[in-house]
Formats: sequence, C-alpha cells, structure tokens
Amino acid sequence: MTTEPYLLTPGPLTISLRTKQSMLRDWGSWDVDFNKITGRVCERLLQIAYSTGTHECVPMQGSGTFSVEAAIGTLVPRTGHVLVPQNGAYCQRIARICRVLGRKLTTIDYPEDTQVAAADVERALTSDPSITQVALVHCETSTGILNPLHDIAQVVARHGKGLIVDAMSSFGALEIDARTTPFDAVVAASGKCLEGPPGMGFVIVRRGALERSEGNCHSLSMDLYDQWVYMQKTTQWRFTPPTHVVAAFDSAIAQYLEEGGLAARGARYAHNCRTLIDGMAKLGLKSFLPVTIQAPIIVTFYAPDSPRYTFKSFYDAVKARGYVLYPGKLTTLETFRVGCMGQLGERGMAGAVEAIGKVLAEMRAAA
Ligand SMILES: *Cc1c(COP(=O)(O)O)cnc(C)c1O
Repeated sequence: MTTEPYLLTPGPLTISLRTKQSMLRDWGSWDVDFNKITGRVCERLLQIAYSTGTHECVPMQGSGTFSVEAAIGTLVPRTGHVLVPQNGAYCQRIARICRVLGRKLTTIDYPEDTQVAAADVERALTSDPSITQVALVHCETSTGILNPLHDIAQVVARHGKGLIVDAMSSFGALEIDARTTPFDAVVAASGKCLEGPPGMGFVIVRRGALERSEGNCHSLSMDLYDQWVYMQKTTQWRFTPPTHVVAAFDSAIAQYLEEGGLAARGARYAHNCRTLIDGMAKLGLKSFLPVTIQAPIIVTFYAPDSPRYTFKSFYDAVKARGYVLYPGKLTTLETFRVGCMGQLGERGMAGAVEAIGKVLAEMRAAA
C-alpha cells in the first residue's frame, strides 16, 4: 500500500484533500483577512448549536483537552463544586482536571456500558445544593456510549445550575440545540466530527456565564474570559493562533455546510456505523454496547477469538491493507475500536470491513 492509510480513529481523522490544500498558505496573525476567517469560523460554530445571540464562541489553541480544562477553569469559580457523572475515560479526565485545579468534585460512578441517568443527576443535585456545575461527556469516546444530554440539561436547568458539556466527539454530527437544551458551555475541537485538522478547540459559552467568569481562572493562557475580551477588542487571538489549522477548519466547515450540515454529517456517520456493525457481525465480531445506547461515532468491538490475536499484529495487518484502527480503552476486557468519522474514500466503511475480514481470514488460516 503506497497511499496513506485511512484513519478509523476519532481524531485525528482523515480529512479531505481540499481541507489539506487550504493549509498551503501562510497567514499573519494580525492580518485582517486571517481574523475574518476566525470570525467566520466562530459565527458558524454558534449557528451549528443554534446559539447565535445567546452564546459566545471562544476558540482556544491546543488539543480538545486544553479547551475542556479552560472551560472548567474559567467557568467554575474557585469555590465552586462540580458534579461529574462518570461512565468512561473522558469523564474521568474531567474529574482529574477538577482535582488538579482544586475545584471541589463529586462523581456519580457507572460501569462503562451504562448510560448516565438524568434521575441520578437530579438526586445528586437535590441532596447537595452546594453543587454549582454539572460536567457531562455527551458521547464517551472511550466506548462510544451516548449520554442523554437533553434530559440531563433539563434537570440541571431546573435546579438553576450550570452545565458544561464535553461534546468533543458529537458536535456537528449529533444535534445540540441551545434553544431547547440549555447549557452554559459546549466544548469541542477542530479535528473531530467537523473533519478539520487537530490543533484548536472552541467553547460555546452562554454570554452571562462568560461575563461572570472574570478572575476565576487559575491560568493565564487557559483563561477563556481573557481570550474572549481580547478577541472582542482586537478581533485577534490573544497569543499566536494555529493559523494553518484555523484556515483548514474554516474550509472543513464550508464543506460541512455544502454536504448538508448536521443532518448529512449525522446520516453519513450513522450509515458508516450500521455498515460497520453489520459487517463485523458477519465476520463474527461483536460490538461491546447494545445498539440502543451506541453513538454513531466510534464502536468498541471484542477482540477476535483467536489464539494468535494481539492488537499490535492485527493493527499492523489491517494498516497494511489501508486502514488504521484504534486500541480499546477498557481496563478489563480485550477490545479494539473503529471510528465512523472522517473521509473514508469511495469504498467507505465497506472497504474497511473487507480489509478486516481478509486479515481475520489470514489469522484463522494461520491458527
Ligand atoms: C477527543 C476527545 C477529547 C479531547 O482529546 P484530545 O486528545 O485532547 O484532543 C475530549 N473528550 C472527548 C469525549 C473526546 O472524544
């Protein structure tokens, strides 16, 4: 295989040629044309969440976690108290951020194959009124489980608390409508469902919550309030922006809108997910989650039942056939993951399933 393999990973993922080509130009960070691009990106991100007029979009340099940490650090007061319902590694990461930042933390712990329940959040908020914010992961990328954001948002709003959503692996593919799903912050990044290159995140923040957040942040560079104020004043990023990434993200969003926006992106991923699960089932590979709680973003599979299986050898053989898989993230079970995101070429997910089938056949023949 001489061409580069397709990435079946939940970011970085395979981006279009047009998106890659939009990185072939250098931009000055003071340049009016570059700052217009930043403005357009932010405006469109607000539109995707139906949050124009009620929320502000604050971009942040770095990988997605930088933006999650910036959101927690900026929006949760130092005397705040965060409730984190946990059913996977990204929820645990938010809990860890709270500990590192010295924000008071309470968790609700679930097994990794169980959705967060709005009723449990309700109970926790009722029993401890000192909780100021709930931080929820929408799609838990470590397994692919979807959490019921809308129901939880209603509960949190009814209690008058703030909701911070890590929508990293759902934003742009699964609907988040600020008009009906109240939230203080939704966090995502360039290199996920919007299919840009990795390198910047963004936080869609309710304007009132952002205005009240001055002085909360423990960190100079991660302060969303400061980034927002500076950007409003100057139209520029506060510190050096990832210029090529911003330009490519702008192009990726333009292509997203041409494709048909959220409905089309969500349908493409759902089709990939069905093709994947059905095809793998025919190969004898079972997915970890029931389809009813599976997000069409990334699927966890039990490892092939073969004495010769190791993830490394499986990965290498599938990669040689043009597709890059993702390791599992479950602590006790041997699993691997396949992402449904990105530009998967003409043969799409069917090509990936076929490659995996050939590798399995080789493995079994050799066993
Ligand atoms: C990708 C992702 C992140 C951010 O991870 P980075 O490696 O920092 O980009 C956070 N939360 C979820 C749910 C993710 O899928």
